[in-house]
Amino acid sequence: MINTTNKVSLSQYNTFGIKATAKELIICNTIESIQEAISYLNNHPQPYLVLGGGSNILFRNDFDGLIIHPKLTNIEVLKEDEKNIWIEAGAGVEWDDLVDYCVNRGWYGLENLSYIPGNVGASPVQNIGAYGVEAKDTIETVKGYYISNGNSFKLSNDECHFAYRQSIFKSNLRNKTIISSVVFRLNKTESYTLNYGPVKEEVEKKGKVSLTNVRQTIIDIRKSKLPEPDELGNAGSFFKNPVIDIEQFKQLQSQHESIPNYPIDNIQVKVPAGWLIEQAGWKGKAIGDAAVHNKQALVLVNKGNASGKDILDLAHKIIDDVNKKFGITIEPEVNII
Ligand SMILES: Cc1cc2nc3c(=O)[nH]c(=O)nc-3n(C[C@H](O)[C@H](O)[C@H](O)COP(=O)(O)OP(=O)(O)OC[C@H]3O[C@@H](n4cnc5c(N)ncnc54)[C@H](O)[C@@H]3O)c2cc1C
Repeated sequence: MINTTNKVSLSQYNTFGIKATAKELIICNTIESIQEAISYLNNHPQPYLVLGGGSNILFRNDFDGLIIHPKLTNIEVLKEDEKNIWIEAGAGVEWDDLVDYCVNRGWYGLENLSYIPGNVGASPVQNIGAYGVEAKDTIETVKGYYISNGNSFKLSNDECHFAYRQSIFKSNLRNKTIISSVVFRLNKTESYTLNYGPVKEEVEKKGKVSLTNVRQTIIDIRKSKLPEPDELGNAGSFFKNPVIDIEQFKQLQSQHESIPNYPIDNIQVKVPAGWLIEQAGWKGKAIGDAAVHNKQALVLVNKGNASGKDILDLAHKIIDDVNKKFGITIEPEVNII
């Protein structure tokens, strides 16, 4: 039997610390309870949201519907050969616990994604990424259930249509599935990605290049740049880095010589949204309790009592100003609910 809880505070379920409520909440600890939650929803039609750690969510208002919170916390080795090991992690495993688990066992692949908040079940949704690595680099399959009919699915890496902060779970299957577990293929032999920003230099300061040193370096860099959600409500990068075509980029570069850029291919360039926001004069600015972080302009923060609407109003002002100054429309990375 599943238990539904009525009129629940979502304060603990969103890292922005927005004081919203939901009409009902079901916590699913098992596959059976996921199936029961789907039946319950189909027998009691209403708005719904599958929620992990709430670290990529902004609640605009109270949520007048059902929140389904998958909490399967198993980690299992499926198979291994000389080079690789395949592990399956439940949707409710804390992402960083999984990274720690793998690093401690000498399995390579997730260490650059250390200290990203949230749960394993959300990792394929926006194809989490940091320091030159994305979840798609190690995800082998994603397993779950379709909400419409309760049928199970198992999607291969290719079928997930991963791209920068994008996947099928944010496009065709947006809000249509409950991911129950993710299978990762990790390396058993040494392989590192150190060529992003200051990573290599900082790792070498710690001594020899090792899994634990890479993980600790990433954690240290992140702690120095990003606010801790427990101390200052936020959802990490609020905006995606826009990808623009090379002609538009060249034109911008002629007016703003120092514009940072990451070429994607011969025709597209990624521009850091944080730089655009800073140049538009928003870094460290606040409107009431909704603010732009003073160290990282890409991060919007709740200084205490901001509502979802306050954060969203600030986001819209930033989008307008960046558009006026650069002719680029930046888009939220965070899911606005
Ligand atoms: C301080 C900070 C730093 C961050 N840094 C990074 C970073 O470096 N890189 C990065 O990519 N992200 C980053 N993020 C964003 C966030 O951590 C990731 O997007 C994370 O994967 C969200 O996980 P979650 O469990 O909190 O998902 P939630 O916020 O609960 O949900 C996110 C989306 O996934 C869906 N979803 C969640 N679980 C499931 C499931 N089991 N089945 C189906 N759909 C599901 C939700 O419906 C929602 O659409 C950061 C956030 C914070 C607060």
